[in-house]
Amino acid sequence: MAHLLFKDVNKVYPNGYHAVHDFNMEIKDGEFICLVGDSGCGKSTTLRMIAGLEEITSGEFYIDGVLANQMSSRDRGIAMVFQSYALYPHLTVYENLGFGLTLEGVDADVIDEKVKKTAKILGLTEYLERFPRNLSGGQCQRVAVGRALIRKVNIFLMDEPLSNLDAKQRVTMRSEIKQIHRSVGSTTIYVTHDQTEAMTMSDRIVVMKSGGYVQQIGTPYELYFHPSNLFVAGFIGEPPMNFIKSVVTDGKINAGELQLDLTPVVKDVKALEGKEVVFAFRPEAIKLSAPKAAKGEKAEGGYELSSNVDLTELLGDMTNVYANIGNVNVILKVNPHYTPEMGSTFKFFVPYSAAYVFDCETELAVESDLKRH
Ligand code: ADP
Repeated sequence: MAHLLFKDVNKVYPNGYHAVHDFNMEIKDGEFICLVGDSGCGKSTTLRMIAGLEEITSGEFYIDGVLANQMSSRDRGIAMVFQSYALYPHLTVYENLGFGLTLEGVDADVIDEKVKKTAKILGLTEYLERFPRNLSGGQCQRVAVGRALIRKVNIFLMDEPLSNLDAKQRVTMRSEIKQIHRSVGSTTIYVTHDQTEAMTMSDRIVVMKSGGYVQQIGTPYELYFHPSNLFVAGFIGEPPMNFIKSVVTDGKINAGELQLDLTPVVKDVKALEGKEVVFAFRPEAIKLSAPKAAKGEKAEGGYELSSNVDLTELLGDMTNVYANIGNVNVILKVNPHYTPEMGSTFKFFVPYSAAYVFDCETELAVESDLKRH
C-alpha cells in the first residue's frame, strides 16, 4: 500500500502542450481512485507521471512521504494494466502469469505457488494450460490483471482496462476488480472515460476536463448530489441532468412558459438578480405527485412542471421520457407502469431538494441550504 501526494503537479509536453494543470491531491493508503473525463483531458498523462513513464514538468509528487519526481519507475513499486492485454500469444496462462517472475530469476517453486494463488483469486485455475487465443476477452483481461497482481506492488495503475470488453463482460469485470482490490488492498488509480465505471468502483473520483483541469474530487455520492460546477453536473449521471438556462428576474427564472421562484432552493436569491443561471434537475429525481414530507421532517415542497411528451423509450426497469417545456427539451425517467402517451401532456414535480442552480458566468453551483438526498 502507498500514500500519494501531488502538489501543483503540471505537465507540459515538449511541443508546448500543457496537458495537466496544477494537479493537487492526497491519496490515502489503499484508496481506489478513478480519474474520469473525456478523451484527451489528461488522465493517461497523470497516470504515466505516477508511473514514472512521463516526466513531471513542475510541482511535487510524493510516494509515502518521499519526493518521487525523479524516482525511477522500477523503484516506485507499481504495476500497470493497459487497455490492450498485451499477453504473450505463444505462452499459456500459467506462463503468462509467471513470466515477470521468471525474468526476475525467482525460484520455480515460488513461482508455482504464486501463479496458483493468483489464478485462484481470479478464477483462472481451470484455464492455466490454455493459450490466450482460446480465452474470452474477459478471461484475457483477468490474466493481464493477474500478471500485475502477482508481483508485490504498492500502487496498482489501470488505464481503461475494460474498454476492449463487451458491455456484459465489463459489468462482471468491474465487480471482480473491486473485489480484488478489497482483498489485495493496494492503492489503485484507475483511468476511464466511463462515468458509470467511475461511480461504481471508486472510493473517490477525480473529474477532469479537456485542457487537463481538475473539476472536482469527491466520493461518488458527493459528485452525484453535490456537483460543484456545471461540467461535473453534466458529466455524472445517465441520462444527463436537465439544464434550463434563464436570466433571474424578481427572484424567478423565466424560460418560455416556465416561471420558477428560486427562493426555496438558493441561499441568497437577491445576489442572482439579473444574472444568467442554469436551473437543473436529474431525470430520475422527478416525482409524479407532490413531494411528501419524510417521517418526522417538515413538509418538503417542489416545483410543478408541465411538459409535452415527444418520445418514450421503455427500458424495462425505467422509461425514458423525452419531452419539452415550451422550447426547452428535457429527459425524464419514470416507472414503466406510468409511461405517458407520446403527444400527451405530462405533469411532474421536481422536489426542491433535487433542484440545482448554477451561475452561468462562473459555472459554479450556487450555494443552497437544502439537504440533498
Ligand atoms: P486522456 O488519457 O484523458 O485521453 P492524455 O493524457 O492521453 O488524455 O492526453 C492529454 C492531452 O495531451 C491530449 O490532448 C494529447 O493529445 C496530448 N498529448 C499526449 N501525449 C503527448 C505527447 N507526447 N506530446 C504532445 N501532446 C501529447
